[in-house]
Amino acid sequence: VSLLIRGAVLDGLPVGVRIVEGRFAAVGPEVGPEPGDEVLDGSGCAVSGGWVNGHTHAAMTLFRGFGDDLPLMEWLTTKIWPAEARLDDTDVYWGTRLACIEMIRGGTVRFWDMYWHSEAVARAVVDAGLRATVSAVVIDGGDPARGRAQHAALSDSIAALEAAGPLVTPSFGPHAVYTVSPETLSWLAEQAAARGISVQIHLSETEDEVHACVAAHGLRPAMLLDRCGVLNERAVLAHCVWLDDDELDLVAERGATIVTNPVSNLKLAVGGVFRYDAATTRGIPVGLGTDGASSNNSLDVLGDAKFLALIQKHAQRDPAAMPAPEALAVASGRRASRLGGGTGIVVGEPADCVLVRLDADELGPGDFTANLVYAAGRAAVDTVIVAGRVLMRGRVVDDADGVRAEAYARARRLGVG
Ligand SMILES: [Zn+2]
Repeated sequence: VSLLIRGAVLDGLPVGVRIVEGRFAAVGPEVGPEPGDEVLDGSGCAVSGGWVNGHTHAAMTLFRGFGDDLPLMEWLTTKIWPAEARLDDTDVYWGTRLACIEMIRGGTVRFWDMYWHSEAVARAVVDAGLRATVSAVVIDGGDPARGRAQHAALSDSIAALEAAGPLVTPSFGPHAVYTVSPETLSWLAEQAAARGISVQIHLSETEDEVHACVAAHGLRPAMLLDRCGVLNERAVLAHCVWLDDDELDLVAERGATIVTNPVSNLKLAVGGVFRYDAATTRGIPVGLGTDGASSNNSLDVLGDAKFLALIQKHAQRDPAAMPAPEALAVASGRRASRLGGGTGIVVGEPADCVLVRLDADELGPGDFTANLVYAAGRAAVDTVIVAGRVLMRGRVVDDADGVRAEAYARARRLGVG
């Protein structure tokens, strides 16, 4: 299986990009098609690595626009939790498929997911053709016995994710320190180490979480995670808005990755801003996430890169903070190797890339990267390729209407659509 992208612009020059068996095989001005290649005309487009959504709950597309603008606990207890209690595998499959279509249309090639029914998530990822790190989600309500009762099912879930093929990477997804007991977190840390897999967790999202953690355990959230053995290079920490200097030092020392979710933080009014410079000067890898469609409400990584830049400038009172190329680097996974992606158009690397239309109104005149982050939206993304497979071309994703119809039917069944 081989594909040749002809005439797309890379670093200012039209090039050929040849893809064989899911990997970049040749890149350069002289590269042309070989016998048997499918040829894709990339003229009028720039070719780039795609974006990485470092934290989301994909199937929550089913709950988009359901109970917005309510206080967090009222929204959870009266809207989301009752609806989630009715979810089955098929709901999650179609919700995730719908999310994948939106992410493909936005130029995302890879995402990190935390949601129930992980096997259904994995099936949807494979059928959509995206890459994802899918997690076996854990909540024990602070009760270690409830945690122990899930051990066998969690092991089974990880085994199923491992069997899902090369597009799916398994991980554990303990929800947060306020919903999972230290005993269960310690067990997950051991399991993750033995299996060499990542642990995704929400950390220090709100100030209340910090106060509650100190009251319950005598430790701030990152310190508690460390005591449980979770804080290491396999940890991917979502939010981290309220980490203090000592916690940031520890996160850096342990080699954990942080995923910032600026739009979700703004919409849920967490009242603080992730300290990007304080984290990166310590050497902490940082990625960008949208969070779920109930708290964003889009899965638009490129759009969120603008928010990332703006909120960092605003918080630091410095328009030179978070320049556009840095925001795009974070959105591309280039500042966090654990998240995958970010390698760009390099021979031998997985063939994940996007073509961006150069004639989009908002992309000219002036600097391409500044225009892409500050002015152009995801509509400028024309083509998306993952593992050498064309998932979108001319903004058309196969079977998008069919997926939307199925997902909306599932939402009606759940009483949320
Ligand atoms: Zn989240």
